[in-house]
Amino acid sequence: MSYDAIVIGAGPGGASAALSLARQGRSVAIIERSEFPRRKVCGEFISAVNLALLDRLGVGEAFRDLAGPEVSRLALFAAGPALEAPMPKASGNAFGRALGRDVLDGLLLEAAKAEGVTVLQPWRAVEISREGELGLVRIEDRDQQLELSAPVVIAAHGSWEPGKLASNLEKRNQKHDFLGFKAHFTEAALASDLMPLMVFPGGYGGMVWADQGRLSVSCCIRRDVLTRLRVEHAGLSAAEVVHLHIMGSCPAVRSAIGGASLHGEWLAAGPIRPGIRPRFAAEIFRVGNIAGESHPIIAEGISMALQSGWLLAEQLAQVKTWDRAGREAAGANYASVWRRQFATRIRAADVLSRLAIFPQSAALMRGVVNVFPAALSIGARLSGKTKTLPGF
Ligand SMILES: Cc1cc2nc3c(=O)[nH]c(=O)nc-3n(C[C@H](O)[C@H](O)[C@H](O)COP(=O)(O)OP(=O)(O)OC[C@H]3O[C@@H](n4cnc5c(N)ncnc54)[C@H](O)[C@@H]3O)c2cc1C
Repeated sequence: MSYDAIVIGAGPGGASAALSLARQGRSVAIIERSEFPRRKVCGEFISAVNLALLDRLGVGEAFRDLAGPEVSRLALFAAGPALEAPMPKASGNAFGRALGRDVLDGLLLEAAKAEGVTVLQPWRAVEISREGELGLVRIEDRDQQLELSAPVVIAAHGSWEPGKLASNLEKRNQKHDFLGFKAHFTEAALASDLMPLMVFPGGYGGMVWADQGRLSVSCCIRRDVLTRLRVEHAGLSAAEVVHLHIMGSCPAVRSAIGGASLHGEWLAAGPIRPGIRPRFAAEIFRVGNIAGESHPIIAEGISMALQSGWLLAEQLAQVKTWDRAGREAAGANYASVWRRQFATRIRAADVLSRLAIFPQSAALMRGVVNVFPAALSIGARLSGKTKTLPGF
């Protein structure tokens, strides 16, 4: 089975790249190993700058119909009372909103299918190799195997799980790794327009109202801190310990979800892998988390995934042929527009996450926000909440 492009992974990065390339008249196959709908560790907030992109991808209207309320205020939930600040406005005066990943990822994949993308799901990519001008991708589903070929191969499989692909990251197990947790709650007591940043010993997180009256609560916690907490609370699961820890550390979190009902199970993932990585290497293009990832303290990973898929398709459209020289030119240009669009927010998120996890610096952060609430809004700006894509 041969195509112009093969995309591995149908999260927001892969779906955006596949759909954008199909719009250019390219034949595209996307491979997704899990069945949809599937929940995912993610805070599910999407900043308003992405509305125009979601419109171009053909899901803007559905997003506006389904997503949770607009978020016009930020807050800091740490030890002590909550502190609030306005969310900076993106162009068009819109605010960001949250939509469950079980809904969003399905919408995007359906839109890609409607654009003519071949969806192979549930299939897992297990090997990427090259034969002359063609990339070969071997995929498996239980006892079946297939080989697909295309000049352009795009890795969009995320960064949190190891695998056998040349584009997968190596397995990691370090004490300062951050592990991700997420749950939905109903009947929570949080203002509908407020998105608090939670800061607690060893980690950070956030909460926001998503679709269907679900409050999305997600956080990252250092592996060594979680290990210590699990010894203190022997017999509880990791998620139960995290739940207790965030409620015990932040009074405002306790007020918001103390009386709420857990909707579905807690999910766990990770370790997360923040950093900037090659966007084109070993003849494989990369979008979304695998190209580069910010600490989710700034809730920008979906934006970066959607936008990087779009940016790559734009750069591939600029080269006449997708032969080796064309791929290399597109790869170099994509790497540089990617850096201009995302590098600052990845660095800002790194600094913020370091500040958040230590009790002394969290207290300092709280002090700064207390006398200067605009620090929260400035942080949101630095994190890319108002940065539009070139050409939008
Ligand atoms: C705690 C936490 C909270 C967060 N909150 C937010 C937030 O509020 N807002 C925000 O914008 N971002 C947030 N993020 C970040 C966001 O979740 C990620 O950045 C985003 O999901 C990355 O998208 P992606 O398309 O690169 O990869 P993913 O969404 O991870 O999608 C990758 C897809 O590839 C598939 N796949 C993997 N391997 C294979 C294979 N071999 N073959 C076939 N398919 C494969 C997977 O099944 C998956 O569907 C958060 C992250 C964490 C940890």
